[in-house]
Amino acid sequence: MKNKMKNLKNKKPKNIFQKLGGQLITVILILVLILVFSSSSKVKKENEITLSQLAQKINSGQIKEIKVELGDLKITDINKKELFSKKENESSLTESLKNLGVKSEILDSVNIKIQDPSSMGYYFAAIFPYLLPILFIALILMFLTKQKGGAMQALSFGDSKAKFIDPNDKKNRKTFKDIAGAKEAKQELMEVVDFLKHPKKYLEIGAEIPKGVLMTGAPGTGKTLLARAVAGEAGVPFFSISGSEFIEMFVGVGASRVRDLFKNAKKMSPAIIFIDEIDAIGRTRGGGMGGGNDEREQTLNQILVEMDGFDDQNKVIVIAATNRPEILDKALLRPGRFDRRVVIDLPDKEDREKILEIHGKKKPFAEDVDLKLIAERTPGFSGADLYSLMNEGAILAASEERKKVSQYDLIRSIEKVMLGPERKSHILGDEEKLRTAYHEVGHALVSSVLDYADPVHKVTIISRGRAAGYTLHLPFDDKKMNTKKDFEADIAVSLGGYIAEKIIFGDVTTGPSNDLQVSTRIARDMVVKYGMSEKVGVLALESGESTLAGSGDGLQKNNYSAKTSELVDEEVRRIMEDGFKTAKKILTKHEDALHGISEVLKEKEVLERDDYEALLKDFKIKVRTHEDQKKLFKVKKKK
Ligand code: ADP
Ligand code: ZN
Ligand code: MG
Repeated sequence: MKNKMKNLKNKKPKNIFQKLGGQLITVILILVLILVFSSSSKVKKENEITLSQLAQKINSGQIKEIKVELGDLKITDINKKELFSKKENESSLTESLKNLGVKSEILDSVNIKIQDPSSMGYYFAAIFPYLLPILFIALILMFLTKQKGGAMQALSFGDSKAKFIDPNDKKNRKTFKDIAGAKEAKQELMEVVDFLKHPKKYLEIGAEIPKGVLMTGAPGTGKTLLARAVAGEAGVPFFSISGSEFIEMFVGVGASRVRDLFKNAKKMSPAIIFIDEIDAIGRTRGGGMGGGNDEREQTLNQILVEMDGFDDQNKVIVIAATNRPEILDKALLRPGRFDRRVVIDLPDKEDREKILEIHGKKKPFAEDVDLKLIAERTPGFSGADLYSLMNEGAILAASEERKKVSQYDLIRSIEKVMLGPERKSHILGDEEKLRTAYHEVGHALVSSVLDYADPVHKVTIISRGRAAGYTLHLPFDDKKMNTKKDFEADIAVSLGGYIAEKIIFGDVTTGPSNDLQVSTRIARDMVVKYGMSEKVGVLALESGESTLAGSGDGLQKNNYSAKTSELVDEEVRRIMEDGFKTAKKILTKHEDALHGISEVLKEKEVLERDDYEALLKDFKIKVRTHEDQKKLFKVKKKK
């Protein structure tokens, strides 16, 4: 497996069954309770006697006491046994008994107590059987409401669900100081801050008030954090809600939530409303993919209506964030709405170092910690990744009973964040180990020999995440652009593992399937997106965006002819074959190095950059430097 910087984020699945299990137990408990109650009334039935039986018993002097509770008779006989009976509704008990032939003298000897029907307990006992099902339903409702997003949120209709941060809440307050890098974004937002602080200055000169700011950027680049910092800097209330929280089962709830949110914010103006992940509601409308769009549209419309309704007195600014700006409805981006755009890029080397510094502030570092080096080794990491890198480093140090975080902790954390934890339990057998070693060295050698490829930082056959082993190669510089030659080198490096297996073992395994997918993807993009195939020509047949509105990823409509499509396939195949040939040539030429280094890797399991480069020298392979690569980029001049 070949790995460039990639963030594999593990999402923990929520354990629904555990949740349901807890509720099931409660429901069962309630059912058992009901059974107990109803069986207690059964006991009553067994000891029940008719009025004439009662009359007989009174006549024979067996009855000591009768308690009358409305229609029920609780009878105690001389043996203290409890009996039950029912009184006739039309006449009084004494009358009925007399009619049944009980003599009044004998009746006098029986203690007849009339229970006061107004006593609370009595009423409760009487209505309890009716109350029970109501109680039962109420309980079920209670559980439903506890479940987030459950049906019962309908009961809380109006209120906006927004989280609110008070400007005086010093602990939760974020400022621009908490954010490293993102210089341009901060500059843009400074204006917003200034407006919120001194609205008069702007209004007096007749300046247009910004209503909406749209922040776009990859996940984890600090969009949410920046929005909070704007509120913190300006010292205004901050209402935040996520796009998905508007979407409810019932049509109309989202819209009423929007109304509520804006009403609250206006009351506390100047204020900031932050709508996170606005793509959840702000997608292109009328895409017609699947049902249930009504709710989204209504919510979106309501937001637009509210924003249009702002006048000069409403000093409320709406900040929205998304990492998929291309799918947003054009109506959102119209002037007077989210017409200010702030783009947040992934941090470059310097910014990464600063972000590491921010998150390392409260962590005691050992002498050897060099954040600059960590920053160099983490191209493509977002702020959030760097945050978790720092955290993992501290966890590692603590778990090994050390008081300070060392450089080695941080280096190990890079890989953990990038590829997931080491799978120590996943131990390869001897043969698999050798195969993996050859595979990885195959990648590494091609990467070291090819001019445009990246230097190898590490080769390992310790499995991590899904990879059996991996080769870490990083560019000399952070790259913002890729040349055709870069791509070709990438493809050859990707195929290096596959070819090494083939040369050495004569066959291939399922191992390199991911390598093949990645390299085919690159080859295809070269042809259809970047105009890098001469045969197909300089045209973009596909864009990064989906051509079907609102359809999301995966649904690409090819709007080119079958003939072109054939040509594309042909070209992709040719590029892959070229890559294959390049890699095969290198590995055949350096077969002794492939054997030698693989044997060492199998024994050591990990080769760090220095060890690996020493081995390269042993096999007379030149270690390329940054200078060597720089020489490759020359401006062509006419002579
Ligand atoms: P987003 O909303 O863009 O997905 P967040 O704002 O939620 O990203 O960022 C997640 C975390 O990453 C933040 O809480 C912060 O700890 C860290 N982070 C991201 N960018 C930066 C940055 N530029 N400086 C400092 N910390 C950052
Ligand atoms: Zn591989
Ligand atoms: Mg966010």
